[in-house]
Amino acid sequence: MSRIMMKTPLVEMDGDEMTRILWKMIKEELLLPFIDLKTEYYDLGLENRDRTNDQVTIDSAEATKKYGVAVKCATITPNVQRMSEYNLHEMWKSPNGTIRAILDGTVFRTPITVSLIHPAVRSWEAPITIARHAYGDVYKNTELRTKEGGTAELVFTSDSGEVTRQLIQKLDGPGVFQGMHNKESSIRSFAHSCFQFALDTRQSLWFGTKDTISKIYDGAFKEIMAEVFEEYKDRFEEAGIEYFYTLIDDAVARVIRSKGGFIWACKNYDGDVMSDMVSTAFGSLAMMTSVLVSPDGKYEYEAAHGTVTRHYYRYLKGEKTSTNPVATIFAWTGALRKRGELDKIPELVSFADQLEKACIDTIESGIMTKDLALLADAGEIPIQTVDSEDFLKEVRKRIEDQ
Ligand code: NAP
Ligand code: MG
Repeated sequence: MSRIMMKTPLVEMDGDEMTRILWKMIKEELLLPFIDLKTEYYDLGLENRDRTNDQVTIDSAEATKKYGVAVKCATITPNVQRMSEYNLHEMWKSPNGTIRAILDGTVFRTPITVSLIHPAVRSWEAPITIARHAYGDVYKNTELRTKEGGTAELVFTSDSGEVTRQLIQKLDGPGVFQGMHNKESSIRSFAHSCFQFALDTRQSLWFGTKDTISKIYDGAFKEIMAEVFEEYKDRFEEAGIEYFYTLIDDAVARVIRSKGGFIWACKNYDGDVMSDMVSTAFGSLAMMTSVLVSPDGKYEYEAAHGTVTRHYYRYLKGEKTSTNPVATIFAWTGALRKRGELDKIPELVSFADQLEKACIDTIESGIMTKDLALLADAGEIPIQTVDSEDFLKEVRKRIEDQ
């Protein structure tokens, strides 16, 4: 079999700990034997971020802007303990945060479903993708707790010097206050990323806010989404998908009753809360993929989980770990498929499909890593728990047999 040729390189962002080990194994076992892999490599491992004063993270995001498609390995976000563990010069910011800020993108998280693991919600037949607007609201707020009563006001001084003042509340005793904001430009970018991704994946898009109560703030989200949708309306119709707006509480009720198979766009806080609910209900973090989509259609694919530190420390002691590589493999297939679509290389697209199918088939035949074995419905077929290496070998066998 001849290897599939690529045209444009993928931006490859290497990472840390156990996922860095898996990264190399996936490339050697599942990609390089089949593809003449073209990548522009950026080492986002913590040591190299420290060595380059985090410039490598910025460069990798700029490369994503240039080429359009990236695949990223999980990376450590340093904290106090990592400062001493890696002898860091600075507590570097989260690479994902840096990349997201440069691409101005929205993160879409989708569970990978397999027949042996049943979602906690019985009606769900297809994955639900959550899109979280990751700017502002309560995540960039100002808070105040007072010791006595008084009057709180909202004061806005415009750049031209005009002052607007509004009463929040007059309190006769101590209380708490919170001021927050969002930017029209950020909501607009979010809208474009959501509609773009819905078209790409041919799935309807749902969005909910509490605009009956928050008439101006949430009202602005509803209005801007509706306005941006006008640009996509015809393409949605052609694709046979819809944009559906409803109140957030109604959205929650409908999501639970639904069959799945759509994208749920959420405001920042709703997305934070609902993505944990949806991912847990579908099964395991190790089976969740994530893609950052910029408003102008650049894509960065990754697994939703972290670097699996606990497994890495065991690996360093010489143990073979049963770490699940599936979400990281799907990050690669997502990126390869997108590259294949953009560069019109059908073999690359079908290879991505084949590789995904080989992963699912392996698991559905009963061969899986430990995290899944604990969740799988025993009794359907005998379950065989394997380490990461053996799992990858089983997947490879299935690609070669297809
Ligand atoms: P984590 O790496 O996702 O792991 C948490 C636990 O979830 C693991 O200990 C393991 O449980 C289970 N798990 C996660 N992925 C798994 C997989 N592929 N296979 C099997 N089990 C899996 O989260 P964390 O321990 O909170 O964070 C570790 C590091 O990752 C931190 O330095 C953090 O900054 C970083 N992080 C990076 C990203 C990113 O780059 N996108 C995201 C999140 C966290 P058991 O130990 O019980 O088996
Ligand atoms: Mg959360």
